Formats: sequence, C-alpha cells, structure tokens
Amino acid sequence: MNNVYLSIGSNIGDRLSKLQQAVKLLNSIPGTEVKKISAVYETAAVGLTDQADFLNAAVQIWTKFGPEELLSVCQDIERQLERERTVRWGPRTIDLDILLYNQDNIETERLTIPHPRMRERAFVLVPLAELNRELKEPHSDRLYRDLIRKAEGEVRLYREAVDVSTFLELTE
Ligand code: ATP
Ligand code: CA
Ligand code: CA
Repeated sequence: MNNVYLSIGSNIGDRLSKLQQAVKLLNSIPGTEVKKISAVYETAAVGLTDQADFLNAAVQIWTKFGPEELLSVCQDIERQLERERTVRWGPRTIDLDILLYNQDNIETERLTIPHPRMRERAFVLVPLAELNRELKEPHSDRLYRDLIRKAEGEVRLYREAVDVSTFLELTE
C-alpha cells in the first residue's frame, strides 16, 4: 500500500457535502482506503475575490494505485461531482490534488509531486501538518509545519477534526 496525502476543496453549493462525497467516493474504490481526515478550514478565495469562500481539508489515504492511476481516480471523482451542477466558468464543486505520494518525487507530463504550489498555501499546509506533525518535504529536512508561517492566506477553523466515519455524517 502507498501512503498518500490529498488536498480537497470546494466553494460551490453545499461545500461540506461535496467534501464528504469526495471522501465517500475515494473510500468506495477497491484498493483505496481513507485513513484520516483533517479539520475543515474555511479560506477566502485569492485572486478572484468575488468567489465564495472555500472549504479545504487534507486526507491521508492508503492506495494500491500508482501515482498516474491515482490522478485518474481523482479526476474521475471531480467529474462525478461536477456533473450535478453546470457551472460555465469559475470555481468548481470539488478539487482534489495529490500533495504527497509516499516520499517520492514525481515529474511526468500530467503530474508533479509534491504538489508544486503546496508550500505557499496555508490552506494546504495547515490541514496537512495536522494529519502528521512530523511530515517532511521529500529530500529536505523541512517539516511542513515549519513552512506554515511563510505561507500565504488565512485559514479559519470550520469543523474540528473527527474520524472518517463521523466526518461522513456531519451536517451543515
Ligand atoms: P493548482 O494545481 O494550482 O491547485 P488547480 O487545482 O485549479 O490548480 P486543475 O485545473 O485542477 O488545477 O489541474 C490542472 C492539472 O494539474 C491537472 O490536469 C493535472 O494533470 C495537473 N497536476 C499536476 N500535478 C498534480 C498533482 N500533484 N495533483 C493534481 N493534479 C496535478
Ligand atoms: Ca488545486
Ligand atoms: Ca487540481
């Protein structure tokens, strides 16, 4: 099994429900198990400021899939959740990014791991460091939790961390 950390985010519609559906879909895939989910954080959108705020969380999964296969799985889930709404432009119902895959450095046409922009994003680093305080950047001695202070953006706690089965039962 491969130990993987993902970032999940949503800023359209019932955002918490979108995160829950993403986790449920991940868990339903044979050979993939969601081990842990962080607290849920709310973050103001940067760039396009007239967008709704995001909800973000990080999840730890164990998966039998290789990195590229896992990306396809994530994109498949994004498609499944977007299908419920037709949004022509702008924000999406759900975004799944692969942050870390074991401690591998991966660079292909479709995939860069660690996620290239993660170290600048508080909404990624805060939940990630919460899942595992000792997590380090591959091939560096830097702890992700030590990168938080330099990262951009503010995160507000939206829901405290609970175990995966409890998370799936939360309501807005
Ligand atoms: P960002 O990557 O800055 O968070 P985004 O999530 O909005 O932006 P997307 O449109 O969701 O970007 O993805 C664009 C492409 O990024 C995907 O088609 C995918 O091939 C590629 N990609 C590269 N590395 C990764 C990764 N680690 N996780 C997910 N997608 C990745
Ligand atoms: Ca993203
Ligand atoms: Ca993405």
